[in-house]
Parts: sequence; structure tokens; C-alpha cells
Amino acid sequence: MSETVPATGTSPQVVTRFAPSPTGFLHIGGARTALFNWLYARGRGGKFLLRIEDTDRARSTPEATAAILQGMAWLGLDHDGEVVSQFEGAERHAEVALQLLAEGKAYKCFSTQEEIAAFREAAKAEGKSTLFRSPWRDAAPDTHPDAPFVVRIKAPLDGTTVIADEVQGDVTIRNDQLDDMVLLRSDGTPVYMLAVVVDDHDMGVTHVIRGDDHLNNAARQMTIYQAMGWDVPVWAHIPLIHGPDGKKLSKRHGALGAQEYQAMGYPAAGMRNYLARLGWSHGDDEFFTDAQALEWFDLDGIGKSPARFDLKKLENLSGQHMAITPDAALQKECAAYLGASGQPALTDDQNAAFVQALPFVKERAKTFPDLIEKAHFALVERPLAPDDKALKALDSDNRSMLAELTPQLRNANWSRDELEATLNTFAEDRETKFGKLAGPLRAALAGRTVTPSVFDMMIVLGRDETLARIKDAAEAFPSGDDAA
Ligand code: GLU
Repeated sequence: MSETVPATGTSPQVVTRFAPSPTGFLHIGGARTALFNWLYARGRGGKFLLRIEDTDRARSTPEATAAILQGMAWLGLDHDGEVVSQFEGAERHAEVALQLLAEGKAYKCFSTQEEIAAFREAAKAEGKSTLFRSPWRDAAPDTHPDAPFVVRIKAPLDGTTVIADEVQGDVTIRNDQLDDMVLLRSDGTPVYMLAVVVDDHDMGVTHVIRGDDHLNNAARQMTIYQAMGWDVPVWAHIPLIHGPDGKKLSKRHGALGAQEYQAMGYPAAGMRNYLARLGWSHGDDEFFTDAQALEWFDLDGIGKSPARFDLKKLENLSGQHMAITPDAALQKECAAYLGASGQPALTDDQNAAFVQALPFVKERAKTFPDLIEKAHFALVERPLAPDDKALKALDSDNRSMLAELTPQLRNANWSRDELEATLNTFAEDRETKFGKLAGPLRAALAGRTVTPSVFDMMIVLGRDETLARIKDAAEAFPSGDDAA
């Protein structure tokens, strides 16, 4: 008997789900699984559902569920409908097992742990398969003892089960390698494997995209689908993520939690782009927008070999996304970053200055800390506290040069062209180069020597603030001649 099951559901609408176990934060791998399911559904006008697989009561915590929800919210992976708790569906899961029992597709097994162990010992000694074969599979009900039992499914005994996986291709399992899986434990509680199948069926899931560590489960889950006569969803088992060294991603490769990346200041759009590229590709495209990802994402583009995590690539993509994000959105996300990383929020004045500075600094920033660093000149208030290098750039010669420049700037039209002309003329008159002027100006305007362009800073700060800062530098700071 060969049991090849068609890999398509009957539902015309795509329904995907993300089904994390709430035992910790949202792992990078989980975030990628969620993203793939989200892209697949949203790109097809389908539904993306969220199910919390909280049947393991000892390991599941509400804090972990909250962390997963927060991680998804940060990544913008919104789900449809209510969050489904798998644990709460226990009665329904048990009901399915009892239905299979009533239909003779499952049976009560009274074998004790000792008997199962003895079976395995004997099989081993005889060099036979140690898969447990219950003597109760075909036992007549009138032979049943009044004793505790588990409910086992009647797995097919011969032939093969083929999982038509969209990523791995056809995966064929010999049915004689499948045991009669327990569906209900002796206390009547359903097992996880049953819960997954019943939930996916009841939730109308058409496509299951998940880590390939679940590929083995698929064969056993298939047995339940077949016994119930349910449509099997399309399966796509995606390779796990590896570190840059090719080994399975672990803590020693750096942060593992999606939200740690928020706290490090990566923009969500950059993270989405990066995660989408971890194991999926569309030609040579590295950088793409959400709209493009939604249009392009498909199961064909998922690779068979593990993707490697590469922080440089994440940084690079993040920078490109920063540059194209509208200022208001960037400002909002930056505020969320400050909160997520436990830093104080910007004041109203700082916020106003930050927005002015954004167009001049966002093109070169890769992360939010980087953006804030580049906008530092706009966020600080007078009197500035120049760093040592800035103080050095403010020796007495340079201070007097700044003092001389002040009246010229006071009369200039505050446009970039005119400021450029004014400073160039000033430099020419002093038979020096603009470069010589730029250092002290940076020090005066930002209190630092590495800053955005002098003209950009002047435009952002405006005439009054610029002149006041130059005056401070010319007169009020400790003398740069004394700087070590
Ligand atoms: N709860 C499983 C996990 O977190 C996922 C199960 C599934 O997607 O079928 O790995």
C-alpha cells in the first residue's frame, strides 16, 4: 500500500500559522519562521494565525508568551484573530482520539512500562526492530482488563508514507518504521503531536512552514490526518539557521532573541529584510522593501541548505532601510528603541531638533545608536561640553578666527549656498583652506571633531544657535591651549 497524499488543501484561501512554544524569548529562528508564514499569507491575501503551543505546562510561562508577542509586534508581524492556546483545546484533542477509537482506527493499549521495556530488550536480543508492537492492537474488547490504558493510533504496517515537502522534495518513510503512536496518555490527556494536527485542521491551516527539526513529526502527523480523512496541509520544512562558522546558531554567535536586536538598535524593516534573506532568495536581490517581499515571497525560493547568520549583512541592510524610512516613522521607531534599550526618552526640544537633523544624518546611519550619535550636535544643549579633541581644535588662534567669522555669518543669508560662499571667502581672505576652518567649527557646533557636514549642522541649528555656539567656543570654553 502506498500512501501518497496530495499536498494541497481544499481551502481557496491561504491560511498559515506560527506556533511557538512559550518557553523563552522569540528566537531568531522563530522570528524567521513567523516572517515566512506572514509573508506567504499576507502576500496572497490570506490569513496568518498565531497559536501558542503551551501544552508543556512545566516549561510554558506567560512571560514567554508576552515576550513572543512583543517580538512579533516589534517586527510588525500582525496575526489574524485571537491568539489560540493549544492547552485550552485539550478536550477537543481528546475528542478526536476518542473518535478514532470508536472508529477502530485507534485502540486501547494496556501494556505497562515494564512490559514495553521487556519487549524492547527481547527485540534487541533477537536483532529485531525495537519499535514497540502492542499486543492490544487487534485485541477484542471483551479481553480488555479493568486497568489503566493509553490510546494508540493504528499506524499503517506496510507500504510507505510520502511527505510532499515544498522545500525538501518528496520525503519517503517506510511505514514499518512508524510505531503506533500514543494519542491519549493513561490520564486521558492528549499528546502534543495530536494537538498540532487537530489544531492545524480546525484552524483551517493550508500551509505549514516550520523548521526542518519538525520533519520527522510530519510522518507521524500524516498518520493522524489519514486516519481522520482530513486534508493534509502543504508542508514546507525550512533548514535551520547556522552561525557564520557553519555550526548551529547558538549563544556564542551573539544575540539569539529577536528583541535583543531591537535593543541593539536595528530597525524592524532592516531585520525583516535580513530575516527574509536567511534561507530565501529572489534572484540576486539583497535589499528590498516589505512590498517587494510580499510580492516576491514564495516557497520555491527557500533553499535546502542552512542559511548563515551574518551581522555585517544585517547592518548593511538596516542602513539602507534607515535611509528610505520617512522621518516621522524613524523618529517614532527611535523612541521605541530608546525605551527597549532602557534609555531616557528625548525631551520635546530634543525631538524637535532631531526631526530637523534626520534628513541630514539618516543616509549614513546603520542603527539607531548610530543615528543618535550622528544627530548628537542637534540633541545637545548649550553650553556644550567639548571633548578633548574638540578642545584641542579650539586653541587661541582658532578661537580668534571664529570670533572674526561671527559678524560675517550674522549677515549671511541662511542658505547652504550662501553659507558655503561665506566660509570659502573667509578662508580665502585669510589665505587658508576651508579644511582649516572646518575643524574648529565642528568643535564649536558639536563639541566633537567627527560630525556631519558643517553646513548641514548650521542649517539644522539655525542662525541664532549657530552664532551662540560659535560665541561660546570663542569666548567661554576652557582654553584649548591648555588641553593636553
Ligand atoms: N511548537 C513548535 C516549536 O516551537 C512548532 C510546531 C509546529 O510548527 O508544528 O518548535
